[in-house]
Amino acid sequence: MANQKNTPPPENFPPKTIRTVILFTIILILSQFLILNKFRPTETTWKTFKNEMLAKGDVDKIRVVNKEEAEIFLKKEKLGKENYLLISEKNQGPHYKFQIGSVESFEQKLSDSQKEFNLNELPEITYHTETNWFPLLLSWLLPLAIIVFIWVIVLRRISGSRTKGFGGANPFDFGKSKAKMFDETNKSSVTFEDVAGLKEAKTEIMEIVDFLKTPARYLKLGAKIPKGVIIAGAPGTGKTLLAKAVAGEAQVPFFSISGSEFVEMFVGVGASRVRDLFQKAKSKAPSIIFIDEIDAVGRSRGSAFSLQSNDERESTLNQLLTEMDGFDNNKGVIVMAATNRPDILDKALLRPGRFDRHIYLELPTLQERIKIFKVHIRNLSLGDDLDFDFLAAQTPGFSGADIANICNEGALIAARKKKEVIEQEDFMEAIDRVVAGIERKSKIISQTEKRIIAYHEAGHATASWFLPTADELVKVTIIPRGKSLGAAWYLPEEHQLMTKTQFMDKLCMALGGRAAEEVFFGEISSGALDDLEKVTKQAYTMVAYYGLNERLGNISFFDSTGKNERSLQRPYSEATAKMVDEEVMKLIDEAYQKTKKILIEHKDQLKEVAELLLEKEVILKDDLIKVFGEREKGNSGSPNLKRIA
Ligand code: ADP
Ligand code: ZN
Repeated sequence: MANQKNTPPPENFPPKTIRTVILFTIILILSQFLILNKFRPTETTWKTFKNEMLAKGDVDKIRVVNKEEAEIFLKKEKLGKENYLLISEKNQGPHYKFQIGSVESFEQKLSDSQKEFNLNELPEITYHTETNWFPLLLSWLLPLAIIVFIWVIVLRRISGSRTKGFGGANPFDFGKSKAKMFDETNKSSVTFEDVAGLKEAKTEIMEIVDFLKTPARYLKLGAKIPKGVIIAGAPGTGKTLLAKAVAGEAQVPFFSISGSEFVEMFVGVGASRVRDLFQKAKSKAPSIIFIDEIDAVGRSRGSAFSLQSNDERESTLNQLLTEMDGFDNNKGVIVMAATNRPDILDKALLRPGRFDRHIYLELPTLQERIKIFKVHIRNLSLGDDLDFDFLAAQTPGFSGADIANICNEGALIAARKKKEVIEQEDFMEAIDRVVAGIERKSKIISQTEKRIIAYHEAGHATASWFLPTADELVKVTIIPRGKSLGAAWYLPEEHQLMTKTQFMDKLCMALGGRAAEEVFFGEISSGALDDLEKVTKQAYTMVAYYGLNERLGNISFFDSTGKNERSLQRPYSEATAKMVDEEVMKLIDEAYQKTKKILIEHKDQLKEVAELLLEKEVILKDDLIKVFGEREKGNSGSPNLKRIA
């Protein structure tokens, strides 16, 4: 949501700094030609020197520079006369210069000439080593200037592609963060009113906003407010919307930036932008930083995703971690981040003291979808035949963004038909259109599929209800999330030890979905992939690791050293391997038959649960108690929910 509306007004190209550099270079070049070269020695030859100057005794001294050039200084009284009419008396010399082959040959030639002209003595000769700075400087400056020029062009390309027009941001602001800031004068217009449903998330977020408004109340009690909040959820579930609402509600500065804006092709830029962002936020504390799509920087380091290892992203991430560690909890900077891939985030980001509070936004339930419809029709002119309960029921698995889209489409369709108001049929048409759009992108659930999912989840629920050691069931949903199409949530007990019965019950619980499909539809679907994977792994650990199989006996092939993990050699024979496979299959089959038996026995109740799910999409423990009656075994579990898809 952070876009670059706050681009500085277009300025001339090249920018000031570059202009200064160019001007300076030009002055340097001109000064060489104009000032320093006012009295330049005239180029001459050995022959002219010997016959015209040396022979006549006009030479005062000779200076040999860098062993390759002789500079001739004439006697003062000779200047401006005879041969040297053009040389000013003010000219201190050197007056002439010529190239010598080598110092030795030059000296030889000089002493030869001395003999030839019968000179009493030779002019004084001095030797100098001189660095001519100008060409040297130029040979350095020129490539540098070219590099800088290209660099500037490239930078402008990059930042220019994000800003409008050519007169984009100053390239020397490259390391500055491009966060968009909201404060009293520039407020986000979104409020919590605009966010439908998401009750728990809203409560949690409001608490944070409240802390920033009245920190004293919390500090007095010694409460620590989290530094970082991660909002995770499928695309379109309202993560950005929620953040915008915080910006609108909190009366503190709110910095918003997208994770991808940290990462550029130049190493170090991201880190420096992070530093800059935190600096700004701290100087305005209390304040909120919102990083959208944090996975762009926060993807776990060295994971399989990053085949092209990205040093830049890593250094950006490290800087982010450093900044988050670097400030006090109660200094009043809270970092919020949104992602739809919480699973790929680096674990370091999620550790206490960083993003330690996680808010998961689910796809909306039936009730929530009704509310979302109501938010988005506020500004529409509606007919009086509208039934939002019905529309919401028609849109299982739709996100808030999809529903916003439907409302807009509905208005467009009605406008095309030149209607005064939007009617039910327009919305129905809009749903069809949006469904067609989503179907291409991801899965949208048909009514038949929804039925299968409902019975599958009801199967899990029923099986677990009647298995004595199964965890307590708290919630069953048929709202898709991530890969899974529905889920049953359990309150697991912490176990240090698990008995064979408990293992067996776990297998049965996981197989409940598939078994229900078979019992009710006489046909099984692909929806049990996750369950079966879990079951298979569990069965193998039971047989091969925990020694829970009678035929294999008290044997474990578990290797706590981990050394054999990669070696192809197995510590057991082919025959044993075959036996393990057979026992695993037998075990799973046994569990499956047991589960099926339970489900057939409680077929009516299962059906009741499934129909309830179809109607409400989410059912809680109380609904289940109404169907099944109180469960025999009460559990006192840990507060961590566990889900089985
Ligand atoms: P995300 O950031 O999770 O991908 P957004 O927050 O950008 O999704 O949501 C996109 C749009 O969907 C929002 O601008 C809003 O119009 C609509 N929307 C999503 N969730 C809700 C909700 N709970 N209530 C009202 N509108 C919603
Ligand atoms: Zn399942």
